[in-house]
Amino acid sequence: MVTKKYASLAQIQLLISQEKTSCSELAEYYLSQNKKNKHLNAMLEVFDNEVLSQAALIDQKIKAGTAGKLAGMFLAIKDNICYKGHRVSASSKILENFKSTYTATALKRLLEEDAIVIGRCNCDEFAMGASNENSAFGHVKNAADETKVPGGSSGGSAVAVQADLCLVALGSDTGGSIRQPASFTGTIGLKPTYGRISRSGLLAYASSFDQIGPITSSVEDAALLLEIMAGKDELDATSSSNKVAPLFIDKSKKYKIAYSKEALESEGLELSVKSAYLELIKNLENDGHDVVEQSFPFLEQMVPCYYVMTTAEASSNLSRYSGMLYGTRSEQAKDIESTFKKSRSEGFGKEVKRRIMTGTFVLSADFYEAYYSKAQRVRKLIQQESNKILENFDFFLCPTTPSTAFDIDGEKSKDPIQMYLADIFTVQASLAGLPAISVPTAIHEGLPIGMHLMGRSFEENDLLNMANIILTYDS
Ligand code: GLN
Repeated sequence: MVTKKYASLAQIQLLISQEKTSCSELAEYYLSQNKKNKHLNAMLEVFDNEVLSQAALIDQKIKAGTAGKLAGMFLAIKDNICYKGHRVSASSKILENFKSTYTATALKRLLEEDAIVIGRCNCDEFAMGASNENSAFGHVKNAADETKVPGGSSGGSAVAVQADLCLVALGSDTGGSIRQPASFTGTIGLKPTYGRISRSGLLAYASSFDQIGPITSSVEDAALLLEIMAGKDELDATSSSNKVAPLFIDKSKKYKIAYSKEALESEGLELSVKSAYLELIKNLENDGHDVVEQSFPFLEQMVPCYYVMTTAEASSNLSRYSGMLYGTRSEQAKDIESTFKKSRSEGFGKEVKRRIMTGTFVLSADFYEAYYSKAQRVRKLIQQESNKILENFDFFLCPTTPSTAFDIDGEKSKDPIQMYLADIFTVQASLAGLPAISVPTAIHEGLPIGMHLMGRSFEENDLLNMANIILTYDS
């Protein structure tokens, strides 16, 4: 495991205030970490010169007493988040040379508080995947074991935090893309409530699911990032004006926790993950929390429902990349039809094509009722049943993923259905629009294991407090 030089922004800011370090020195450190770890392929681009000049500028602001709340924070962003004047490719060939013309609202808010963006992170193409192997720019290695995947789709973001290439990173989560890689890399990954953070400037995959969120090493940093990114944005009609209360840390607070019976009995659950799950349940009980087994009988329906809904939305969202207005135009384009056909055939990878075709199929007139409409009804049911559990409990607990990080280019990578099942525990919160967090609780044969907590709508603070309590347990 890589030990991080700095545990949190609070620690960095303390050192800065004691003049034991400066933003310029931190910039040198993180840039050298990036150079040393290039082979992990976590970053598609590092903004070297810019990072140095911004650090110098923020050092001046600190001296003048005008620095923002995030002065000293070095942030990496997933390559599907727009940053004006910088490239954003969603790890796809079709957008390889595309530059953002504006900055995502969430990122803009962080920049206004003086966060520094160190670079953009590799990910699965258009955020579709669970292993980061679908990137057009090569796979990412897990720093805990370089023969293993880092998870996906925010695999680069997770490894950037894991390998200390930055302090914190932004990912996006549609069905688990922040939480699953967090679990595989021993980091903390938070998917906020749907609507909590503006999606303006996030390249869309499935708009009724997508959320930007933080990947961090400390609960405090996750809370801080959430607080600053959250809130109403007139550029995203689904963003909520619900206020985020500042993080409260109360280690003595006792919670009511339901843990998933089906997860425990699930055939695909690896033994090491099962042991970590049981261990956490025991620790929570010993700590005085009210822990109860709870059945949620839709485990088998969730992955199919998720894939029908998200591929449908993706087929519509990705239609803009045609070589006309957006997307690299094929050199073989001669007329409108060949522009569309050639540009899309050459520009998209295999998995993205599979999903566009699946999505087009489930939305087609003959099959709309059988698939899309039905999936919508199942989604409603999952939402209702999830909320029902959370009327009686503060959290719903299960493992984040059924296994630890798997082999790069291994069995799973050859079978899309197997890969889709990596999302079995994370898609519930996505379908229901609820907040959820992955917390590292154990390590098995050098590989991290994360546990997953889902909470009530807009109650991320309790999730973060619970995560903080869990991190105090011995593993
Ligand atoms: N693995 C899931 C998928 O491929 C989740 C992706 C995501 O959350 N962006 O759809």
